[in-house]
Amino acid sequence: MPAPTTPVLLHNGLLIDGTGAGPVRDGSLLIEDGRVRWAGPSADCPVPAEGTRRIDVRGGTILPGFIDCHVHMAAPGTALSHAEIATMPRSLLTFLAAPRMRQTLEAGVTTARDLGGADAGHRRAVESGLLVGPRLLVAVAMLSPTGGHGDFRAGNDDRANDNTMGRLADGTSECRRAVRGVLRQGADCVKIAATGGVWSPTDQPDDDGFLEDEIRTITKIAAGHRGKKVAAHAQGRGGILNAVRGGVASVEHGYEIDDEAIDLMLERGTFLVPTLTTAHTDPDPKKAAPWAYAKKKHWQEVARRHIPHAIERGVRVAMGTDCGIAEHGTNLRELGYLVDCGMTPMGALRAGTAEAAELLGIAHETGTLEPGKRADVVIARGNPLDDIHALGDPGNILVVMKDGVVYKDADGLAA
Ligand SMILES: [Zn+2]
Repeated sequence: MPAPTTPVLLHNGLLIDGTGAGPVRDGSLLIEDGRVRWAGPSADCPVPAEGTRRIDVRGGTILPGFIDCHVHMAAPGTALSHAEIATMPRSLLTFLAAPRMRQTLEAGVTTARDLGGADAGHRRAVESGLLVGPRLLVAVAMLSPTGGHGDFRAGNDDRANDNTMGRLADGTSECRRAVRGVLRQGADCVKIAATGGVWSPTDQPDDDGFLEDEIRTITKIAAGHRGKKVAAHAQGRGGILNAVRGGVASVEHGYEIDDEAIDLMLERGTFLVPTLTTAHTDPDPKKAAPWAYAKKKHWQEVARRHIPHAIERGVRVAMGTDCGIAEHGTNLRELGYLVDCGMTPMGALRAGTAEAAELLGIAHETGTLEPGKRADVVIARGNPLDDIHALGDPGNILVVMKDGVVYKDADGLAA
């Protein structure tokens, strides 16, 4: 997608720049060559170059494009059958992902990290303009021990396994091979299973996945490949501790997080990505297998008990939804759930922008509306500091820009 050459001035909006600074009434944002040139009160705005396009946002809120740190574009976002996904031709999985990617962008997400199922081709298709979607970072597939969260075989199936979502490895030497394998395939980050999970048939969310030595091996190899970071699927407390001690950058889900883990995470700056969107999604008793239904109901409760305490204690939180397991295009509901768990609305906005950019290692490029950064911009109806839940309705996301290009213009503001 070529960067637009015409400069754009957004004006007459409530500006929230993502840095944590207070909102600016009658704010403006000046965009040149797909990047932010200036953001602040309209009265102080530099005189725009001749030919600048002016967009009156009519009192809407100007926000940085949001960043979802945990999606699965290959998964349907409905009660899913891993068996069905596992038997689908890969090309069909990819075609099915295309409308989901557009839907995610139109929900206000300009960058997303896919933690299993999407490969480097998805990222490149967006980069080249072949597909419309958020800028993607991909993990390719989740590394998992045998019988862990990336092992979707039935208990009576002992055939070798290599599925779309998971790669199995046991012991540090197989972990070395597995992590090098996904890096070779163009992974931007590495996803590991530090505990079992809800949708894997032969484990429980409080079963340990990889042990600390396996995790440390993986994080070390990833770090040695241009500082790539490791995200750990970790739900039970034992696996959360193994993951943090093993050096991961983020604990995904973290439903049973306790003070011991919180202390360690605060000390090391480990992020929590609580994926409350999937935690709040009720399983369909008619479609989910009985074992999965029971696990889901139990772990929803565990999350409701533990996540608010982690937020209260100030663990760094980045927004991630697990859309793909939860319904696609509902990503910004996560912000409302974070506030329901005790976060301030500004804190939630930062979890979905600047903090998420920090976790993904792209804070120099996006996450705030500061001069020099990519012009990833959302214009929303209303003031999210008054009603953060409104952002969760894609109907309130009026304009979405990525690199200064308008991809959604619901009310014709940018027409
Ligand atoms: Zn996930």
